[in-house]
Amino acid sequence: MTDYKFEGWLGRTPDAINGKMEWGEFEPKVWTEDDVDIQITHCGICGSDLHTLRSGWGETPYPCCVGHEIVGKAVRVGKNVKHIKVGDRVGVGAQARSCMQPDCPECSVGQENHCSRAAVNTYGSVYPNGEGKSYGGYSDYNRTNGHFVLKIPDSLPSELAAPMLCGGITVFSPLRRNGCGPGKSVGIVGVGGLGHFGVLFAKALDADRVVGISRRASKRDEVLALGADAYIATADEEGWAKKNARTLDLIVSTVSSADMPLSDYLKLLKVGGTFIQVGAPDGGNLPPINAFTLIGSGIKVGGSLIGPPGEIQEMLDFAAKNNVKPWVQLRPLKDANQAVIDMTEGKARYRYVLVNERHAKLGNL
Ligand code: NAP
Ligand code: ZN
Repeated sequence: MTDYKFEGWLGRTPDAINGKMEWGEFEPKVWTEDDVDIQITHCGICGSDLHTLRSGWGETPYPCCVGHEIVGKAVRVGKNVKHIKVGDRVGVGAQARSCMQPDCPECSVGQENHCSRAAVNTYGSVYPNGEGKSYGGYSDYNRTNGHFVLKIPDSLPSELAAPMLCGGITVFSPLRRNGCGPGKSVGIVGVGGLGHFGVLFAKALDADRVVGISRRASKRDEVLALGADAYIATADEEGWAKKNARTLDLIVSTVSSADMPLSDYLKLLKVGGTFIQVGAPDGGNLPPINAFTLIGSGIKVGGSLIGPPGEIQEMLDFAAKNNVKPWVQLRPLKDANQAVIDMTEGKARYRYVLVNERHAKLGNL
């Protein structure tokens, strides 16, 4: 069956962020036998969707349909795609393609997310060689290169798997790669969509102590209920940086604003500790870092970008095995504009997942 149309919520100007996405048809990338078409049932709303809708990371190639936490049913599978068959329940995260050449220093070692030759985002990218543009999951159908299409484990419900495909992997990867586990104290800064996954995964990875760090005291009970051992409210607790100085081995920061108390976050690290930034503010700038902050405690500051397909598959299997359950709020796709407004206002607890009413039961909506 290939007689479907590609339709979705299109942002046409930066004003789209203000409830102005319009439903319309779009032209997917040119079909190749490496691709998979997905009939979408679920799509999470990621902070990156907001940056892109408003052209916060540079001019978005409008019209743009955002959404890169996609789950649905494979309805067309290219001949060269061996691990997926028509009818499978599959997912796509934030990346749709890379060069995948054996001589690529990144792709050849399973770091496709860092490919510098031909990385294509799931939405808002222009394919090389005139193959068209990429369009995301606030829509009925998605077309993505099969290498970036993952099988969803049977025991993982679609609405829980969807937000893992970007929000989950973006914190799972730096936690695992930086030693989160027994004997370690781990801080998660910015307990929103990514941050709540940070708390869940750090606990599931058996860190000794997990500390949620966000601005308001009003999130305390929820963050403790997520499994955190402690909570710091940076906007409501006087002297929090001094009081908690040198208590953490590893911090993952999801904060999406340039206006963050970065020096104070760094003070929370023990000697030799590591701070990983994953939040990506509009414009990209972070506050300046004083050299003595780095030198005095011998700390390291780094970054992390989503995760390659192999690691996403590992995360899905890990989540299924360890019963990692994100807190999601289901929203009908028809109300995507309102959901985006609510996300912008920080109302999600902790991830909105759009449900495509045409392809999925509305369930508990
Ligand atoms: P989100 O749900 O909005 O969470 C961000 C959290 O940061 C908020 O809940 C907020 O919690 C906290 N925060 C602290 N200071 C803030 C400030 N000054 N302004 C706004 N929020 C502040 O967003 P998300 O989906 O988790 O995404 C977070 C960031 O990660 C975005 O920039 C997104 O683009 C980026 N991202 C990066 C990657 C990557 O590969 N590196 C992948 C996906 C997303 P409080 O209100 O409780 O403080
Ligand atoms: Zn994302």
